[in-house]
Amino acid sequence: MTEPTSLHIAVIGAGPGGYAAAFLAADLGLTVTLIDLELNPGGVCLYRGCIPSKSLLHVAKLIDETRHAKNWGIDYADPKIDLPRLRSWKEGVVKKLTGGLGVLTKQRKVEYIQGKAAFENSNTLRVSRTNGGEDSLTFDRIIIAAGSRPAIIPSLKLETPRMMDSTSALDLSDVPGTLLVVGGGYIGLELGTVYAALGSKVSVVEMLPGLLPGADRDLVLPLHKRIGKVFDSILLNTTVAAVKEESNGIRVTFDGPEVKERDKLFDKVLVSVGRKPNSEIPGLEKTQVKVGPRGFIQVNKQLQTDDPAIYAIGDVVGEPMLAHKAMHEGRTAAEAIAGHKVAFEPNAIPAVVFTDPEVAWCGLTETQAQKDNREVKVARFPWAASGRAMTIDRTEGMTKLLIDPQTERVLGVGIVGVGAGELIAEGVLAMEMGALAKDVALTIHPHPTLSETVMNSAEVFFGTPTDVYRPKRP
Ligand SMILES: Cc1cc2nc3c(=O)[nH]c(=O)nc-3n(C[C@H](O)[C@H](O)[C@H](O)COP(=O)(O)OP(=O)(O)OC[C@H]3O[C@@H](n4cnc5c(N)ncnc54)[C@H](O)[C@@H]3O)c2cc1C
Repeated sequence: MTEPTSLHIAVIGAGPGGYAAAFLAADLGLTVTLIDLELNPGGVCLYRGCIPSKSLLHVAKLIDETRHAKNWGIDYADPKIDLPRLRSWKEGVVKKLTGGLGVLTKQRKVEYIQGKAAFENSNTLRVSRTNGGEDSLTFDRIIIAAGSRPAIIPSLKLETPRMMDSTSALDLSDVPGTLLVVGGGYIGLELGTVYAALGSKVSVVEMLPGLLPGADRDLVLPLHKRIGKVFDSILLNTTVAAVKEESNGIRVTFDGPEVKERDKLFDKVLVSVGRKPNSEIPGLEKTQVKVGPRGFIQVNKQLQTDDPAIYAIGDVVGEPMLAHKAMHEGRTAAEAIAGHKVAFEPNAIPAVVFTDPEVAWCGLTETQAQKDNREVKVARFPWAASGRAMTIDRTEGMTKLLIDPQTERVLGVGIVGVGAGELIAEGVLAMEMGALAKDVALTIHPHPTLSETVMNSAEVFFGTPTDVYRPKRP
């Protein structure tokens, strides 16, 4: 076998998974070629996912804060939205970050090819360059990091700018008077939050009985209450039976037991019903790579596929389809190829919904514990008892720990509230360090901060919280 340091590897796709793998592989001494359709690395996350959505959510939060400020004696006029400037600010953020990755690619001497890759065999790729020309290139190893794309429901497919997916919604071509978001998952709720702040009357329709399926209900409740006030309507247990374009909008037909208005006209409809892995890479059938029933490429803990020369990482290998999971898988694959003894087996992968309030969790959820019939103790700390939450007038939050009753080990953490996405990192660290509830309770947190609520939850477990009254555990 070739010495690891003399290996030449190719990475297909330069999203968070692909560029992390390529950069670390180069740092480990491998020769790396990175292939992507875009001018610079970044993938969905930087071009049409995490980064543009969070830029716009920041603006939405600011607008909301100014409206809220009335309660504190400060009255702002209604905001004037300069859409072209807002768009160009968001595009500027994307350009700076992706341009920065372009520079890092050159600094590491990673060969970057803008183009589309197809397999000729397990070690050879046919690359069609965006600026013309085709090459047949042979590599020792290939990492597939082709990511995912929005899922489409055929009955909701209309070729009109009035129908949007997450990508066109982020383009922000206008602020529709009325917007229907199909799908109550995180992407739909985040983008709905942006449009609502900019002035659209937003409705959301979800076929399941609750928003954010997969998250614990007590975490979703405060969010549901708040967006219930900000959105025009939230339709649960409801499906979209049909959509039809009319001269002044999209006529949507709803179906379900709770439907009051069967037909309704919306200026625009955003379909956000999940994502599909990009595993249909041309020529993949010429390799031994196996694709599972849901379209995910099958890999082992080193991210190696059934073809020993091919690895796969990120959205294309499975849930959770999140950038930070992709990056860590990318690093593991690069190290595995370089000959290190590694495995991708995290104790916890955080999930964050960047709505207002934010919802975040990691490790075991109560929903999962119930499904598995697993006994857990849940210690909840309400933010109504947090000094910091009071000072920012956002006491609807809650922090909880799921604790093993025998070992008192932290099994999971859930947080809803302002900044939950930042706070959850402590929970992930606690889980990776195998922390006991006592460790969390004895960790001195700065006051007054929302981070104290993590420590306070552990105190609740022991029946000794100072800031709320809980009878001691027997
Ligand atoms: C609106 C939105 C918001 C999101 N917000 C968050 C968030 O806040 N936090 C979070 O963690 N995740 C978020 N995500 C998910 C996140 O974007 C993905 O999990 C992440 O981008 C996956 O990374 P990846 O490396 O697997 O692939 P991707 O980022 O999907 O990149 C894959 C790349 O491969 C390229 N490619 C595919 N096939 C080929 C080929 N044959 N040849 C050459 N190139 C190819 C594609 O062009 C693409 O650039 C969001 C997604 C969306 C849509």
